[in-house]
Amino acid sequence: MTASATAPDPLAAGRPTRVALVSLGCARTLVDSEVALGSLKGHGYQIVRDVKDADVAIVNTCGFIEEAKVESVETILTLCERKKKGRLGAVVVLGCLAQRYGGELREELAEVDGIVGTDSFGALAEVLEPLRAKHARVYDVRPRPTYLLDEKTPRVALTPPHYAYVKISEGCINACSYCVIPKMKGAHRSRTVESVVSEIEGLCAERSLSEVLLIGQDTAAFGYDRSRRFELPELLRAVDRSGRVPWVRLLYAHPGHINDEMIAALAEGRSLCKYVDFPIEHSHDAMLRRMNRGVDRRTMMDNILKLRRAMPELTLRTTVIVGFPGETEEEFEDLLQCMKEVRFEKLGAFIYSPEEGARSVSLPDPIDPALKRERYEAVMELQFSISAEINAAKIGRKMRVLIDTKDKRSGRYLGRTEGDAPEVDGQVKVTSKKELRPGEFVDVTITGADEHDLRAETLS
Ligand code: SF4
Repeated sequence: MTASATAPDPLAAGRPTRVALVSLGCARTLVDSEVALGSLKGHGYQIVRDVKDADVAIVNTCGFIEEAKVESVETILTLCERKKKGRLGAVVVLGCLAQRYGGELREELAEVDGIVGTDSFGALAEVLEPLRAKHARVYDVRPRPTYLLDEKTPRVALTPPHYAYVKISEGCINACSYCVIPKMKGAHRSRTVESVVSEIEGLCAERSLSEVLLIGQDTAAFGYDRSRRFELPELLRAVDRSGRVPWVRLLYAHPGHINDEMIAALAEGRSLCKYVDFPIEHSHDAMLRRMNRGVDRRTMMDNILKLRRAMPELTLRTTVIVGFPGETEEEFEDLLQCMKEVRFEKLGAFIYSPEEGARSVSLPDPIDPALKRERYEAVMELQFSISAEINAAKIGRKMRVLIDTKDKRSGRYLGRTEGDAPEVDGQVKVTSKKELRPGEFVDVTITGADEHDLRAETLS
């Protein structure tokens, strides 16, 4: 790679190399980005927020589904254009897309200076040293990633100061037939309870945290790789006992790994949000088998019943896939029926797309794209009506809201109830005479609602 006369020089003789990172994809990737920046900062790089101010631009990519891959490639090409115009010294592609298509990216994108998979987030500075030291092109994609951060791993926060994602495990033990994540992130590996609690205490020492979100590919399988037991109940109790954070939220819990102990721990925990992200993906047994979800309808519905009985105020979030190969009208009707029975407070839907390398690609009877779209719209229409009814029933209620920010245009504050995760769920638009600050909890009266958001006024 040769640095052009005008381009910012990644060597940046006599000053720290300025690096900007664009983080795409999910909350798990965001933590990887924080770790990557922690490594660079620890080796003398200057972290800049805007690519315009950078010598080196890194894209931490997503490679999960078609849409996400397209977004990643478009972002890479945009940065390569900047480099061609001499406005950037180097471009590095990091993460899931690099892990999945490293070889192709290396062949096809000569402008890219570094391709680094999912096993080197914590050692990114070392991996990129040949690029910084002598402009050498870097390629570091390892077949079976085993990297797992711990409580000592330096991170540069990319979330607002008042909330943080804490990754409790990496990789996945499941083998859903449509999913390539295990190929990108490797086998399931859990941290220890002590490591997670110590990380949260470390974060609290650095910043005033109002909320911690526990994440992984399948948080409910926490500890299974170590002890063949689901240790999530112990972790939830330990985090709750530490009492350092008012809100602790659990995301990505596989419905087949929820057990009575976990439900009890969640119900009794004072700081544990009565909120569970419980991705069912579908409801019909034949479909669940074809998806290799490792759980059947009866077990999921039993777990939902137990969750609702233990926590009547619970918010249940889920995701579903429509248009999976062979999806019959009867199977699709069963999904709609399940939605009507359970009345999930939050639901996201995906249209099935065949992913190269996933076993489902070879399944027969692909569904016509128009029918896929039709089913997607039917699911979203039903969920809109369910969410609108659930939200409307909150009008007049007193609720506790965590303030995230202020909407400069409307002058209202934007916050969330215990039933709203950041970035994926609805918001509460709060009118307050008193100045409110991000991270503050306020008691409000709900004054209005739509299928997604609530409106509220602070209690005088
Ligand atoms: S639980 Fe299934 S869908 Fe989720 S990451 Fe694991 S294999 Fe993929």
